[in-house]
Amino acid sequence: MENNKKPILIAGPCSAETREQVLAIAEHIKDLDLAYFRAGIWKPRTRPDAFEGVGKIGLDWLKEVQQNYGLKTTVEVATTQHVEEALKSGVDALWIGARTTVNPFSVQEIADALQGVNIPVLVKNPVNPDTKLWIGAVERISKAGIKDIMAIHRGFSVYEVKKYRNEPQWQIPVDFMKEFPDMPIICDPSHIGGDRKYIQEISQKALDLNFDGLMIETHITPDKAWSDAGQQVTPEQLKEILSKLIIRNLAPKGAPMGELEDLRIKMNRLDNELLEILKKRMQISEKIGAYKKKNNMVIFQKDFYEDSLQKNVKNAVENYNLKGKFASDLYKLIHQESINIQEQVMNKPTE
Ligand code: PEP
Ligand code: MN
Repeated sequence: MENNKKPILIAGPCSAETREQVLAIAEHIKDLDLAYFRAGIWKPRTRPDAFEGVGKIGLDWLKEVQQNYGLKTTVEVATTQHVEEALKSGVDALWIGARTTVNPFSVQEIADALQGVNIPVLVKNPVNPDTKLWIGAVERISKAGIKDIMAIHRGFSVYEVKKYRNEPQWQIPVDFMKEFPDMPIICDPSHIGGDRKYIQEISQKALDLNFDGLMIETHITPDKAWSDAGQQVTPEQLKEILSKLIIRNLAPKGAPMGELEDLRIKMNRLDNELLEILKKRMQISEKIGAYKKKNNMVIFQKDFYEDSLQKNVKNAVENYNLKGKFASDLYKLIHQESINIQEQVMNKPTE
């Protein structure tokens, strides 16, 4: 986000359910300066007996939203037929859902249906944490001639039960931003959190990471919603969430940048020291590899590894003020690289 830029806001129900529900939500959020009013009418559900959307009748309700409230609308499309019906009905933007982005055949089908059409397309990340698949989907849509593309980060499926419904894995959208620095990226805290109580914290985190906007599922009676009930908020809750967001600047006017420069220089210096130390550590790994080779020992010594992992993490937490998880992840990564180096030494043919 550029300095002082207001976040792009997309809101509306997970699913359009009835004409009255759609219009009531639009009535309550019409003054929020929305980029788009969202509503799913074809719903990709995990199980076949769940509510699969009202279908194209919902397009008529969205037309009323445009006409009565002057709002722009967006729907999810997953097939050529969806694209054609949405375009015919004059929807303002299309979005590609996570379960579609995951499949290059489906994305290509949508891209083919969009050849020569001028409409904004929003591309959600795939359900699995695969940055390239997300990038590939954007490239397919872009090659179809679509100029106005935004990305939506909605988190990634994980098997274990975690705090959030879909793990944000923030490094992935950050990598995506590096690939497409000029493309707006929106965060969908509703699908990441899976529970309305997390929307505030996830939205704030996204803005702090320089996301350009938010897509928040909003319903007039969320607990009675036909899909994603627990994660939708009322229009009043949406307004409260927005009012509590802190919008930070990239480079605040008048802030002493010199101070930040100093800190960055210090940090760079320490990064170099870390690299020096790592280099020395890897040189020792080479020597250990040579010793083990000479004495015909296996590389991985489980007891020694577990003992030093435990000691290092304890030391990091107790004496260096570092978090246990961070210390443990870091040590495991360094240890793995040490094993790789020892393997190279071990398997190098002797002259
Ligand atoms: C949705 O936005 O309602 C939806 C189905 O999202 P996702 O594709 O992120 O699961
Ligand atoms: Mn939903």
